[in-house]
Amino acid sequence: MSKNCMLHSRTFEEGDRVKVEKDGVEYEGIAMPSTTGHIVIKMVSGYNAGIDPRGATVSVIQLKEDMEVSVKPAQKTEIETKGKSTLPKVSILSTGGTIASKIDYRTGAVTSQFSADDILQAIPELTEIANFSGKAIYNILSENMKAEYWQELSRAVVEEIKGGANGIIIAHGTDTMMYSAAALSFMIDTPVPIVFVGSQRSADRPSSDNAMNAICAAKVAVSDIAEVTVVMHSEASDDKCSIHRATKVRKMHTSRRDAFRSINSEPIGYVDYSTGEILTSLPYVKRDEKELAISDSLESKCALVKFTPGASPDILAYFIDAGYKGIVIEGTGLGHVSTDWVPQLERATSQQIPVIITSQCLNGRICDRVYDTGRDILKAGVIEGEDMLPEVALVKMMWVLGQSDSYDTAMDMLKDNIRSEINERSCD
Ligand code: ASP
Repeated sequence: MSKNCMLHSRTFEEGDRVKVEKDGVEYEGIAMPSTTGHIVIKMVSGYNAGIDPRGATVSVIQLKEDMEVSVKPAQKTEIETKGKSTLPKVSILSTGGTIASKIDYRTGAVTSQFSADDILQAIPELTEIANFSGKAIYNILSENMKAEYWQELSRAVVEEIKGGANGIIIAHGTDTMMYSAAALSFMIDTPVPIVFVGSQRSADRPSSDNAMNAICAAKVAVSDIAEVTVVMHSEASDDKCSIHRATKVRKMHTSRRDAFRSINSEPIGYVDYSTGEILTSLPYVKRDEKELAISDSLESKCALVKFTPGASPDILAYFIDAGYKGIVIEGTGLGHVSTDWVPQLERATSQQIPVIITSQCLNGRICDRVYDTGRDILKAGVIEGEDMLPEVALVKMMWVLGQSDSYDTAMDMLKDNIRSEINERSCD
């Protein structure tokens, strides 16, 4: 559909607030781009409606030029310190995502537009918890994250801690938050809490989770949990947020507010939203137990390969021949691939490319001593990923290969439990 839409001699443009009437039903919202010939509007609920224009009437309620538009360049804008000087100092580093987004009235789509300052203005309760300063490091959706951004982010975090921050909040898109959180967890030894937070629903939606998640994150940032964590809604209600360990968390739902779950672990604890109290259920690293240090070298040429029934071993051959330095396999069940993949696994390890096998079951532990295929995989020199999540194994591989200068050191480090990514227990 072109930018100017002519319907029943009415003209409207993308970004206008319109009312569409069809078959006695009224739809109201922001006109969005459409490639199908349908009228597409973003409704107040945040969901889109596509309406066949035949027999529909459209009236423009508000022109897009009359609506507030907030489009800010977010590159490294700094905000002034806000809050009460007696409170702890917390730095908010914003990378984008829904928590830093609003509707772009030009397109009707959700885009990252807010800076860290906007987050504070939108959630004034935060200033009761800490004395905030912040920077917008990026303004991207987290599907656009990459290893070099994790490195830049880790350096920014360390600068803030050196500058006296008692806690860090990282506002991040939810899609790849667990990768970034795991990466920072491996890269930084932290004496203070580093808390990732996001939201599943943008601030313009009545069911937005951004304020509650941000308030819970602030509570954790001033707590004594000096680990990298992900703090998000625990359940469908607004009762509590979970405090997930960065190496044990996964986004498990596309749209629910309680999408994040600790896998093969309990969360470290919970924040009671009404009282602000933190209840912990796991041991954790306490504030000032560790000295600040950063080891931010990463090998980005690592791959996560999912095995599927009948998949050709050529897939693995591709990564070996393309010069990949480490491979994580998401195998079946206890950690399997088909027998015809074994020669390629042997080829990888004989070329000193470490291979870790994890499971697409996600829950449970790899045990390659039960079936023939598993035993062959072990003979090929593949490391059992224990109860590590596949994406955590990938990030660990990238970090370990960035730190080690020999295959043997890398193999030892990959088997070590470095950031509680492995529960210590042999397979049964
Ligand atoms: N696609 C978005 C992102 O990951 C979703 C979100 O922020 O929740 O940035």
